[in-house]
Amino acid sequence: MLSNMRTRPGRTSGQPTVHAGMDLNAGANAPVIVVQGGVVETVSADVRPAQGLRGYGNAVVINHGNGTWALYGHMAGVAVSPGQRVGAGTLVGRIGNTSNGKFSPVTGQTVAQWRADAPSDPARRRVMAPHLHLELRRAAADGSSPYLGTNAGRGYGTLTLDPRPWLESGGLIVNRNLTLAVKPGSAMERTKPTWSALSDDVTDYGFEPEEYEADLPLYGLFAVGLLTVGVGVALLVRNRLG
Ligand SMILES: [Zn+2]
Repeated sequence: MLSNMRTRPGRTSGQPTVHAGMDLNAGANAPVIVVQGGVVETVSADVRPAQGLRGYGNAVVINHGNGTWALYGHMAGVAVSPGQRVGAGTLVGRIGNTSNGKFSPVTGQTVAQWRADAPSDPARRRVMAPHLHLELRRAAADGSSPYLGTNAGRGYGTLTLDPRPWLESGGLIVNRNLTLAVKPGSAMERTKPTWSALSDDVTDYGFEPEEYEADLPLYGLFAVGLLTVGVGVALLVRNRLG
């Protein structure tokens, strides 16, 4: 884990900003799997800055039931469709660094083109590293989805929940040193033969992404945890993404 929900210094301003999700570190194209079942509500992309869920890049929102929704953001590719029912161990996409062009190039753009678009933007000196932004939210006050309509923007930081208890009830334990482990007897453990067989088809992006999340020393710990236990951040079959 790179960064859990908390207030942290803004990337360029240095002013405190809310980070409403959990950042899970993994190589580009590593598979992302869900730890609990649900129904895919939204599949969105920030092909241009004003599109999609605004900043989450290729993102999937899943209604996991019991008033809980999860967003899986910044993915390189998406493996599910709206309305699709998913179970523990289902592949939803692959790790990426997609955004709305603020933190990384939009789809189809090189780093050089992205920088040339806004040469004076200090944020573009760095490129967001591939990672999964996992964000958990509860229903809005009227019971509606926290990711639909005006709830999508307003819910950031106000409807968000700590993902850790939810991950743990699904069988993924977040250790004190921020590595992850699969709980014996859980659905995650039962489905391990399926998700652990997905290829960890890590891609060379052609540039060296620079981390900007704050807790960089945890990178190594997380990588070891990921490789060792398989994790709830899992794999996709490459050809499904074209
Ligand atoms: Zn994040």
